[in-house]
Amino acid sequence: MQEHLTIQQLFQVVGDLSQQLDGEQPVAVILIHYGELGLKGKNRPRFEQKLLRNIRQALQGLKLPAPQRLYGRFLLRLPVGSMENAAEALHRLQSVFGIATLTPGVLLSQRLAELEEAAKVFAPFATGRTFAVRVKRSQKNFPMSSRQLEAHLGALIQQQTGLKVNLSHPDWTFSVELFDQSAVCYTSRLRGARGLPVGVSGKAVALLSTGIDSPVASWKLMKRGVSIVFAHFHSVPYTTPASLQNARTIVEHLTRWQYHSRLYLVPIAEIQKQIMLQIPAPYRVIFYRRTMYRLAEAIARREKALALVTGESVGQVASQTLENLQAVNEVVSLPVLRPLAGDDKEEIIALGKEIGTYELSLLPDEDCCTLFIPKNVVTKAKLATIHTLAQKLDVAELESQAIAAAEIADFYYPSAPAPVSSHP
Ligand code: ATP
Ligand code: MG
Repeated sequence: MQEHLTIQQLFQVVGDLSQQLDGEQPVAVILIHYGELGLKGKNRPRFEQKLLRNIRQALQGLKLPAPQRLYGRFLLRLPVGSMENAAEALHRLQSVFGIATLTPGVLLSQRLAELEEAAKVFAPFATGRTFAVRVKRSQKNFPMSSRQLEAHLGALIQQQTGLKVNLSHPDWTFSVELFDQSAVCYTSRLRGARGLPVGVSGKAVALLSTGIDSPVASWKLMKRGVSIVFAHFHSVPYTTPASLQNARTIVEHLTRWQYHSRLYLVPIAEIQKQIMLQIPAPYRVIFYRRTMYRLAEAIARREKALALVTGESVGQVASQTLENLQAVNEVVSLPVLRPLAGDDKEEIIALGKEIGTYELSLLPDEDCCTLFIPKNVVTKAKLATIHTLAQKLDVAELESQAIAAAEIADFYYPSAPAPVSSHP
């Protein structure tokens, strides 16, 4: 496996090269490649603009120049003296959806002597026993063919390192991309977060418990370009306020991927009490959920969101049979997205660990439903029964009150926008 060149090593390469070259100075850069997916036709400029805006947002506070557009990718310059911020920038860019790969490299002019020096300065970082040189070009005005340049630089590296050439499975690769006037040299490429830039797919309201599943479900849709507004339902004062704090902590963590999040903390204890009084125990969970769906849809209307998101996974628990999903789903008209519908619990846990929500989901609290939850739950609710029960229950007024009483919290990444000054 080829080791990644660290930002520290990259700055060392640039420093060494600066001493070898006179005239134009080499610059450390990160080439930002975006996936081809979703790039077709009219969507492309919108996709690019949104991605660029998200990148600039993610890099806020690091005092780096804005990335430039360059042949279907972006070029971020890392000026001399910016090493610490550059390392942080690379770290943050790995959480920007829409980025396919990130390539730390050196930007040079296109003189052969410079490319030769670059090969020599990079060569000591070679790992393993074999290597290859790869040349790509976005224009044709370089005097040598790509093959010729590969062979030429390969001979230099071989002389210096004694490594063998292996073009099919090299342990280490030295790559050169030739642009109009410039070239970028690099040795490794990092995987980006992929997906689509957050915001290009519109907005949805996620029903966020503080369990394992709904944070992962929310993240999966952010990855598809959806901005998420969060709704957490709680039974304070009949439970401790711990779930409110845990919901905040989870939303704050997820904001890293979407830069601004809004969380609605909605009190539903009064509604749950009403449901307890009027609905037989086995059906109560379904009615709690119907209330949650309706309230989430009311929030969606207010936020101009076009869908709801839940962490439901078919068959995972009694309330998630197809029958019960239907009994809950019928109270809303917006599409309900369930990105975990077909996932096993282990898969959900693995992803939760990868994105850092799993540990937060284990923080102790009392779920709003555990307090009011009955021992036995109907697993295959009949719609006719649900409708008969629903006729007896009147919670519309209580639901309006719950929305009005909701607390709203906003979260920003990397930090809150500066307050607008009233003085010029
Ligand atoms: P999770 O791990 O997301 O809590 P779960 O496996 O515990 O899911 P349920 O408790 O049946 O499953 O909840 C199913 C879905 O309903 C959750 O994924 C979430 O989207 C929504 N939900 C449940 N409780 C709440 C709550 N208190 N506030 C907001 N949404 C909730
Ligand atoms: Mg739960």
